[in-house]
Amino acid sequence: MMELKGKKVLVVGLGKSGLAAALFLRHHGALVTVSDVRSAEALAKDIPALLEEGIMVEAGGHGLLTFRRQDLIVVSPGVPMNTPELAQVKSFGLPVIGELELAARFLKGKMLAITGSNGKTTTTVLVGEILKKAGLPTLVGGNIGVPVVGLIEASTDETWSVLEVSSFQLESTEQFHPAIAVILNITPDHLDRHGSFENYIVAKERIFAAQDAHDCLVLNADNPASASAAARAAAKVYLFSTEHPVPQGAWVEDGFVVYRPAPDAAIEKIVPLSGIPLKGEHNVQNVLAAVCAALLAGAPAAKVRQGIESFHAVEHRLEFVATINGVEFYDDSKATNVDATEKAIAAFKSGIHLIMGGKDKGAPYTGLAPLLKERVRSIYTIGAAAAKIASQLHGVVPIQSCETLEKAVVAAAEAARPGEVVLLAPACSSYDQFESYEHRGRVFKELVTEHRGWKTCQKE
Ligand code: ADP
Repeated sequence: MMELKGKKVLVVGLGKSGLAAALFLRHHGALVTVSDVRSAEALAKDIPALLEEGIMVEAGGHGLLTFRRQDLIVVSPGVPMNTPELAQVKSFGLPVIGELELAARFLKGKMLAITGSNGKTTTTVLVGEILKKAGLPTLVGGNIGVPVVGLIEASTDETWSVLEVSSFQLESTEQFHPAIAVILNITPDHLDRHGSFENYIVAKERIFAAQDAHDCLVLNADNPASASAAARAAAKVYLFSTEHPVPQGAWVEDGFVVYRPAPDAAIEKIVPLSGIPLKGEHNVQNVLAAVCAALLAGAPAAKVRQGIESFHAVEHRLEFVATINGVEFYDDSKATNVDATEKAIAAFKSGIHLIMGGKDKGAPYTGLAPLLKERVRSIYTIGAAAAKIASQLHGVVPIQSCETLEKAVVAAAEAARPGEVVLLAPACSSYDQFESYEHRGRVFKELVTEHRGWKTCQKE
């Protein structure tokens, strides 16, 4: 474990995990400065507490000298590793690590880390609930809920820390060493930050870079970028597939999720597909990954089944909102990339009225065309990406430009017939019109449940 007492540490970026890291470091005796490009006004709510703890705060930009006078630099996941300041200090040989790496060095027990372009939160929460059901001492955190540093205090040598980790967090790891790692899938996302799909894959693969032959790596046999990571892994590889049996791991057979712990072992039935309370084939993939991870962590099969059968969709992840005049409304605001939107469309057979748009993330929408033709009656666009969506998907299905979510909900609700579906699955991030995808999802749910402004379904 690294010694922090008296060390000069700079925390770059004052998000939720940056703040948690700064306080953790200070409580362990480090001399902490935080630096953020946002103004003092924007950071106003956190500054008094930091000063009170004796943490120095630099707001409104990063001074180069601030970076040079340090023993260690801890970077928040929101801050890219290739900023000029970080590039320069790295070239001087100063250690630069992320919050995940810092926390992992102090966390007791074992780590079970889950990454992927989509499905991280769902799978992380599911694995956490299964392990808790199995009576294993379990903590859940990372990219969801509690930052990883926030788990340290409660961790013991027996703890399983189930961590959702993003490519941004993995980018700045060095020794991060989960006993079980899962790569759910890798599809184009965050190209605006990582620069290319290849760089994004490299960041994701850091999840197993420090693993050895005692560790386990769970990969998706149906997703080429996830499956091909096996060639570079030192850990034991377990696969999952919705399409075919795998040598060791989980797949679907005769309406059951089944698991084989080793190539020569017997096949165990875990849970019937009808017992999975989540919509969509993509959620079967999440369940398969969770089955592998939970069994490898030592949960008994019966508890795995119970954990799955009692699970509820996480909010804004293909969450059922209401049926109004025979039309079902689903909130998949967390579908912030094209792949997630594709999976959401695939969860319904036909008659979909799809609300799409927001802040474009660089990946093309054209791949959606076949599924749109087959299942979607009309697209209602919102936000900054509307023009790009309209030009790339021109002629595939009717597209109505609605600009705001409110207008889109009204237009979709008025057009939908009984038995059809209004689906918010934007394929874009929310930051052009909303604070976050949660905010966007909440507004959608309010518009739907209040029937605000639409004529055909007047509020009773
Ligand atoms: P993440 O934490 O990786 O963003 P979530 O569980 O929050 O994952 O789900 C994000 C979005 O991706 C949701 O819109 C959800 O419906 C969709 N999704 C969930 N699991 C998968 C999967 N395995 N493959 C593709 N899309 C998925």
